[in-house]
Amino acid sequence: MAGLINGEFKPKVSKYLTELMERVKLEQGEESGAYRALYNQYIYSPLEASDQKETNLKHYEAVVDSKEGLPKGIERLYRRQLVIDITMVCAAHCRYCLRANYEVMQLSKDEIDDIVAYCANERELKEVLVTGGDPFMVQNLLKYLISELADKAPNIRIVRMGTRVPVQDPKKMQTDIYTFFKNYKKVLSFEVGLQVNHPIELQPLTLEAIEALQDAGVRIYSQNVLLKNVNDDLETLIELYDSLRYLGIEAHYLFHSIPMRGTKHLRTSVAKGLELIKRLTSSGKISGRIKPVYSLMTYVGKVTLYEGSILHKDDEGYYHIKSYYTIDERRQWNPTYELPAEQAYLDEDGTIIAKYLDGED
Ligand code: SF4
Repeated sequence: MAGLINGEFKPKVSKYLTELMERVKLEQGEESGAYRALYNQYIYSPLEASDQKETNLKHYEAVVDSKEGLPKGIERLYRRQLVIDITMVCAAHCRYCLRANYEVMQLSKDEIDDIVAYCANERELKEVLVTGGDPFMVQNLLKYLISELADKAPNIRIVRMGTRVPVQDPKKMQTDIYTFFKNYKKVLSFEVGLQVNHPIELQPLTLEAIEALQDAGVRIYSQNVLLKNVNDDLETLIELYDSLRYLGIEAHYLFHSIPMRGTKHLRTSVAKGLELIKRLTSSGKISGRIKPVYSLMTYVGKVTLYEGSILHKDDEGYYHIKSYYTIDERRQWNPTYELPAEQAYLDEDGTIIAKYLDGED
C-alpha cells in the first residue's frame, strides 16, 4: 500500500489489471460498462482534485499504532474478534479506499509473536480478521501467523482474511498456500472476504484461484463497495450477485463508499444505495442465498441501515446514524478507545450516533 505523497493518492495498478483493461477496451470499447468499471476503480479522475469537502484521509479502522497495552498492528472493537493489519501493501490501489493513504508497513515476526501471545491470553477471542492492506501480498508471513495461532492460541477458531489479490493479480496466489489451508483446516476454519465489484473482474485466472481456495476448504464470501459508474445500476448488481452465487460465494456487505477526500465522483447518495438494495433483494431477481447487507462504514464501526437507523440529515449534508455501539463496551476491550469528537456523539440511551457525509447522484 502506498504512503500518502504530499496529500495526494499514490496510484498503483498491477500489470494484470492494466492488461485486462487494455483487452476490455479493445473488445468492448471505452464506453462499455466493463471498461468503465475497471478504469474508475483504479485510474485518476480530474474530478478528484476539485473535491475537498471531506478532509478525511484516514479512518478509525486503519489505525495501526502500538497503543499502550496493545501489540502493534491490531484493532479491537469487539469482544470475540480481533483485527490484524498484517501489511499495508496491496496489489493495486483502489481509489475509493482509505488504505492508500497509509504508510507502507509490514509486521515483523516478533510483532506477530506479540499478537499471538495477546490472542492466547484473551480467552474470549475466538476469531481474527487478517487484513491491511492485503494479507495475500505477504503469504509467508500469513502462514507464519496462522501456524503460530494454531499452535499457541487454541481459543482462536476462525481466521478470516480480506483480499483482492485474486481479482487484482491472481498469479500472486502461491500454490502452496492452498496446501497450507488444507493442512490446517481441521484446526481452524478459514474464511476469505473477497471484494469483487463488477462481473468483469471474474476472469479465468480469478476463477481458478477461487476454486483452489474452495477446494482447500476455505469459505469465500463477498464484501463489495457500491461505486458510481462501476456498479450503481440494478442490472450490473444482479449479474454480479448471480455470478457470485454460481461460484459458491456467499454475500456479506454491500458498503456505501466511505467519505474520503477525492472520492466524491465515486460516491452515490445513501438513498440511491437503499433504493438499489430494495430492488435487488426484494424483487425475486436474485436467489435469496446471495442477498448482501447494505451498510455504512462509519467512524465508529459498520452500521447496517434498518428503519430508524437514519435519524436526520443536517445542513452540512451529514446523516446522523444511530448505532447500538456503546463506549463502555468498547473500552472493555480497548481501554484507550476515544469517541471521534467531530464525527460521533452519544445518544440519550448511551449508544453512539455517528455522522456520515452523504454522496451525490
Ligand atoms: S480495497 Fe483492499 S485492495 Fe483496494 S486499496 Fe483498499 S485494502 Fe487495498
